[in-house]
Amino acid sequence: MNEMTLPLAAEFPAGPLLRRPAVAVRVGKVTVGGAAPVVVQSMTNTDTADIDATVAQVAALARAGSELVRITVDRDEAAAAVPHIKEKLLARRIDVPLIGDFHYIGHKLLTEHPACAEALDKYRINPGNVGFGEKRDRQFATLIELAIRYDKPVRIGVNWGSLDQDLLTRLMDANAASANPISANAVMREAICQSAILSAALAEKIGLAREKIILSAKVSGVQDLIAVYRDLSRRSNHALHLGLTEAGMGSKGIVASSAAMGILLQEGIGDTIRVSLTPEPNGDRTREVQVAQELLQTMGFRAFLPIVAACPGCGRTTSTVFQELASKIQEDIRKAMPQWRERYPGVEALKVAVMGCIVNGPGESKHADIGISLPGTGETPSAPVFIDGKKAVTLKGPGIAEEFQRLVGEYVEKRWG
Ligand code: SF4
Repeated sequence: MNEMTLPLAAEFPAGPLLRRPAVAVRVGKVTVGGAAPVVVQSMTNTDTADIDATVAQVAALARAGSELVRITVDRDEAAAAVPHIKEKLLARRIDVPLIGDFHYIGHKLLTEHPACAEALDKYRINPGNVGFGEKRDRQFATLIELAIRYDKPVRIGVNWGSLDQDLLTRLMDANAASANPISANAVMREAICQSAILSAALAEKIGLAREKIILSAKVSGVQDLIAVYRDLSRRSNHALHLGLTEAGMGSKGIVASSAAMGILLQEGIGDTIRVSLTPEPNGDRTREVQVAQELLQTMGFRAFLPIVAACPGCGRTTSTVFQELASKIQEDIRKAMPQWRERYPGVEALKVAVMGCIVNGPGESKHADIGISLPGTGETPSAPVFIDGKKAVTLKGPGIAEEFQRLVGEYVEKRWG
């Protein structure tokens, strides 16, 4: 065996860059920016005028862990429903801040529905959809004045699909006349950044405090999103909401959102995130909350749910027992979490390992708080369980899964009870 080693190198740091300092914004009971942890946001897809459906979905999103929920306020019926939605949520002890999403007629809806303006915790406005021509500035000013009157923060949410066309045209013309023109795509990104920064400056000029402004600049391309937010973070100290717009369905949406936001979060950019997944028809809307939490947790920024580490399986195991056990344990933990959170403060940090054979099973299990190494093909049909790095017991027979689940429950009770 070769016994050579290299000299110890200086520590190569693991972890994110320092968080970009952003002005803290209070949204209802939640702080976004400043030293606050990155916040998970989600959005309903119910008709807001349907009070019961919207209450049910907001409640589901909040129970899944969404810390802010955005709802569409697109017409009078929706605006009239908002205070009732808030009231019903509070009656169910769900005090999640509600954000109203306004396009085209937000100034009118907020003026004509003061109870809606009061009930919402934040207004989201898109500077590309506030109005056109000379009406644009007037309607934008009305929205900001309403935010000041009701003491609400505002998200100035630029989206490349509804970018301020006047601004884009002016920048395209300036670029065409420039001696060193940049690419059309770079001009588009510049227009997105400028739209956010100029709109925030205008809001501040009208009288809205910087502590009441969050910016977002959403595009659907991963590289464009990274470039836009890097630029925006250099050019402003506003709190930033991150999200890849139109990320798509299933694994494509999850991978694209995680790739884009993971890089930005690692660079210390982003104060609140949303994973914009397109759900399957009648699919579970809370999936976007789960993905956002998993992104933050796997990167080590927050702990929401105990982690179950499982090996991928390979030719050394022909049974699916460990996959079934890992998935069952994860599912049971997810279901138990609402009670566990109250009963066992700190339980989010629990690490469980479910491994398929002796190669990595004992090693990985020892790194977890509690882990099991199931027998691979041809191994003795017994499963050592490791607790806090030490072998505690060996399980045998057909009831291994149930026994291990019981041991996980006992461990949680003993450590956090
Ligand atoms: S722990 Fe065993 S079964 Fe799992 S991937 Fe590694 S070698 Fe394969």
